Amino acid sequence: MFALAVIVTLLVLVFIVWPRLRLRQVLAKAFPSNYAKILRRNLPQYRYMPTDLQLQLKRRIKQFLHEKTFVGCDGLIVTDEMRVTVAGKACLLLLNRDAEVYPDLTHILLYPGAFVAQRREVQSGGIVTHTNQGLSGESWSDGRVVLAWDQVLGEPENQSHGHDLVLHEFAHQLDSQTGSTNGAPLLKSAESYAKWSKVMTQEFEQLQSDLEQGFQTIIDPYGATNPAEFFAVTTEAFFERSEALAHYHPALYQQLYSFYRVDPRDWR
Ligand SMILES: [Zn+2]
Repeated sequence: MFALAVIVTLLVLVFIVWPRLRLRQVLAKAFPSNYAKILRRNLPQYRYMPTDLQLQLKRRIKQFLHEKTFVGCDGLIVTDEMRVTVAGKACLLLLNRDAEVYPDLTHILLYPGAFVAQRREVQSGGIVTHTNQGLSGESWSDGRVVLAWDQVLGEPENQSHGHDLVLHEFAHQLDSQTGSTNGAPLLKSAESYAKWSKVMTQEFEQLQSDLEQGFQTIIDPYGATNPAEFFAVTTEAFFERSEALAHYHPALYQQLYSFYRVDPRDWR
């Protein structure tokens, strides 16, 4: 009995008390000045944010960098610039929210550029096909995000078109926290889900219809693939083209605002 109590106490110390103490120490440290420079350079929103949001962001970044492991692939050497840029963009999605820092995520795999992902599919009749796909990003619900570094910063023109690879993949991470990646992240109540579902379904169907008729859309056409991609591309647009999204899709903007709890239109 005594031995069991000792083992339980040790387990609590090793797996609960010690990690919390370590995290507290990490959060108490000053945010390195070279990290702040990286944020100002690579995260356009940062310099326009009010101080309290900047502080929140820096705190989340410190936790993210403490808890997640970055792995360079295909010979890539991971630098502070890569780690801070990815963490900064990922943590932009957590501001003002009572959310943990991607609790299911453990590893970020960084490739220098587009990477080839092998896919194995079993067709009817038991035929197995292997395909090679060139990708710039992937989000897995088993704790991994994979990114092509040359696409993380992207071209300035990409941002003006509302594209951001990191925001996209981390929106998928938020989506998968519910247990299924289906375009609905964790919301507060059944009522919130009902509103979310109504607005998102309408907007998703509108995008599909606009594209079928050959209309230009401010939402990335890739969002018409399925509701999960719709949530990911509208998240990109919410942070990168907030004025246009709010103007042309006010109901959609309102839903994203109620989830993300920041208004990127203020960051100008
Ligand atoms: Zn996607």
